[in-house]
Amino acid sequence: MSDRVILDADLKFVQGVIKAGGQDLKKCYQCSTCTVVCPLTPEGTPFPRKEMINAQWGIKDKLITSMDPWLCFHCNDCSEQCPREAKPGDVMAAIRNMIIANVAVPSFLGKLTQSIGGSLLLLLFPIILLGAVILGINGGELAFLDKPVIVFHPNMISIPVIEIVFIPAFFFGIITGLLGIKRLINGLSKNYPKTEDGEPLVSALIGTVKDVLSHSKFRECGVNANRNVAHMLLFYSFIGLLITTAGVTSIYYINKIAGATVVTPTPLPFFHPIKIIGNVSALAASIGILLILGRRLFSEKIGQTVAFDWIFILNIALIVATGILAQTSRVAGSQVAYFIYYCHLVFVFFLFAYMPHSKFGHMFYRATALVYARYSGREKSVGMNFLEGKQQELPEETKEVA
Ligand code: SF4
Ligand code: SF4
Repeated sequence: MSDRVILDADLKFVQGVIKAGGQDLKKCYQCSTCTVVCPLTPEGTPFPRKEMINAQWGIKDKLITSMDPWLCFHCNDCSEQCPREAKPGDVMAAIRNMIIANVAVPSFLGKLTQSIGGSLLLLLFPIILLGAVILGINGGELAFLDKPVIVFHPNMISIPVIEIVFIPAFFFGIITGLLGIKRLINGLSKNYPKTEDGEPLVSALIGTVKDVLSHSKFRECGVNANRNVAHMLLFYSFIGLLITTAGVTSIYYINKIAGATVVTPTPLPFFHPIKIIGNVSALAASIGILLILGRRLFSEKIGQTVAFDWIFILNIALIVATGILAQTSRVAGSQVAYFIYYCHLVFVFFLFAYMPHSKFGHMFYRATALVYARYSGREKSVGMNFLEGKQQELPEETKEVA
């Protein structure tokens, strides 16, 4: 007689995966086609077939401590080939969302960012905080609207006040992100002890940075190969905008410390190098966002877009749009520029403070899992990609099924 297997099923977790984008999960009949076509699955216990059954059964503990959802880049090659239209690519994305909700610190933020209602509630905080700060420092009046020249700093809000508000928000995001990473690593280290194939930590870090900068994993995608372009545009424009913010802040402090105008003060002229970096980055971000929006709205191959995705996409789109509009309306001499700039600050605050709890959390958790995959030795990529006609050694699990 065979041994009894007792499963610790969590039906709430199954419902969570379904709600987070995996609504076709139950159609899966375990044929393993998805695992065979996945271009990124590693050797030994490959994905996503096993995630499908674990999600169907609600084996929450295995899934939220699994590295594999992070090794999936949602290319949807598997969903294209699935004979049951169970959309395993979307299920993997839904499991990632559930992991974020589970490792997030504090956990209520991880839950709130999953829904539109919860995110609107979180948005109220910067709306009220920044409104109160701007009114407070201007004596409860909007007298700056009457000033002849439209300048955001210091007319509406000075740079030191912006820093008093945004530096804590930024570090709140970073520190809670690090605590979430610690939770993620605790789970990974139990499931994936370091093997002899593992790389030293420094080499794993360098390898991951190279992978991220080159977007090499995205390029393995078959049906959604051009996702790579939009993602790269957004990624590098984000770096450009960070450089711009750091540059503007540095200019302010250099002049303040020197007690004189030793470098060109803000607002910067149109052809100033920092302005050029900012404008080129804003343009690249706009194109990236439009590409993403276009594909999310009109391409079936991209898969399911859930509230969690839309909130992040809209947050980035609104940051870029208000950044561009604030600048153009200021140059045009319209006082509406102040309101647009206020909105811009609200959306930036939302991004910073809730970065590890929103979809932006991928930046923390995927990067960690990719480093850990190399470190533990799970990075060895062996699989079969029928879409590209590449054939490599089949993983053991797949051989058994075949
Ligand atoms: S290809 Fe579809 S039906 Fe087959 S195991 Fe994968 S998800 Fe399930
Ligand atoms: S979406 Fe792409 S990377 Fe993810 S499991 Fe499917 S084939 Fe693999």
